[in-house]
Amino acid sequence: MCGVGIGCGGPIDPAAGTVTPVNIADWVGFPLRDRVAGSVGGVPVALANDGVCMTLGEQRHGAGRGVAQLLGVVVSTGVGGGLVAGGRPVLGRSGNAGHVGHVVVEPDGAVCSCGGRGCLETVASGPHLVRWARERGWNGDGGARALAESARAGDVVARRAFRRGGLALGRALASVAAVCDVDLVVLGGGVVAAGELLLGPAREALAEHARLGYLRDLRVVPGSLGAVAGLVGAAALLDGDAATLAGHRTSYCR
Ligand SMILES: [Zn+2]
Repeated sequence: MCGVGIGCGGPIDPAAGTVTPVNIADWVGFPLRDRVAGSVGGVPVALANDGVCMTLGEQRHGAGRGVAQLLGVVVSTGVGGGLVAGGRPVLGRSGNAGHVGHVVVEPDGAVCSCGGRGCLETVASGPHLVRWARERGWNGDGGARALAESARAGDVVARRAFRRGGLALGRALASVAAVCDVDLVVLGGGVVAAGELLLGPAREALAEHARLGYLRDLRVVPGSLGAVAGLVGAAALLDGDAATLAGHRTSYCR
């Protein structure tokens, strides 16, 4: 099939084809699907949350290939995610299921881009890791990548920032996995490139909090497709799995 698959930061409205990404202030109900459809003409255009696309990409062609129950989490400028159940993407009532970044991990924590407070995103996303570190004296140049380099070089504040983020991530994963009963969690996004600085504490928190029998063998792995996972997943929106998105067929503009 020839067409265009779009993964965009959420929230999105698949039925209307509009997006309101929390990190693009000017796009409020922006008609992204129709704008793209108008410029490519005559081919199907499918729209989904970028976290859903990343998860679908890893499930079809990456670290989660063949896994039926999968949670994908993107730790980047924000924290997003997606769910696959029974091999199919789970979109939820409005098309926004899988927004793991807005699991509350600190009820009295920082204000989140969603308008709430203390979401995982306010602790583990790149900008918030850096914010937290700067408030405690880290003065490195750059963002999360520079913070990771400082941590590897032994900077105590930088190491504490990743540990705090990783613990929060692990607690959120324990909660979500308990609800969704998944085989595998695949992590993507630039902050995950920090490796064990983030994943070590995340696994530590999982071991502490994911205690039910069905959670004990939960695997958490980095994605294998890297930055293209979302693109691969967006393309997969157009394959023979349109039926998997049956509840959102109106997101297809033919
Ligand atoms: Zn939030």
